[in-house]
Amino acid sequence: MDVPIVQKILKANDDLAGDVRSLFEAHNLTAVNLMSSPGAGKTSLIEAALPLLTANLRVAVIEGDPETALDAERIAIHNVPVVQIETAGGCHLEAHLVKKALDQFDLNVLDLVLIENVGNLICPAEFDLGESYRVAVVSVPEGHDKPVKYPKVFRMADAIVLNKADLLPHVPFDTATFDESVTRLNPRAPVMRTSCMDNTGIDAWTAWLRSRIVREATI
Ligand code: MG
Ligand code: ZN
Repeated sequence: MDVPIVQKILKANDDLAGDVRSLFEAHNLTAVNLMSSPGAGKTSLIEAALPLLTANLRVAVIEGDPETALDAERIAIHNVPVVQIETAGGCHLEAHLVKKALDQFDLNVLDLVLIENVGNLICPAEFDLGESYRVAVVSVPEGHDKPVKYPKVFRMADAIVLNKADLLPHVPFDTATFDESVTRLNPRAPVMRTSCMDNTGIDAWTAWLRSRIVREATI
């Protein structure tokens, strides 16, 4: 693919992302795009937050995966509207896919849409989905060097989550180097340590999501 074609694809995506963003804004709706490598725990972080959020917020979830509806099936157990986007091997979500998924929801009765991107630390950073906020998730077994190797996702994030913190005593992960590198890459994003195994940091993660809500809670 030569450069002009890539630019054309990104421009078409940006235009559609603008439409999606307008749609969210028109409904006073917050949308959060979760990005990480495969297996960092995005679905688990959503599952951990849902029972706390849905006490007084109306949440819907869009799941992106190359194949299967396994993650949507996990989310559906929590009784929230969920749409699975199967990208048929595609390695990131694009705005037109999100726009289509939104047709399945009644945006008038939602406060928050959580969008779980395809597990990939590279191209999700290139494709605006019209989201209000972006979260970069990295897990302890991946190693402390991921932010410096894949800086773009971390630079553009509004929050950074270090998941699987319960594994810190068991694997070589230099927390000082990690903290220093993410702060250097992105001084404005809060960095939260979480574990969906022992619930470390789930309150802080949920509180951060809640603090992004535009609409007054109505239920
Ligand atoms: Mg997942
Ligand atoms: Zn991709």
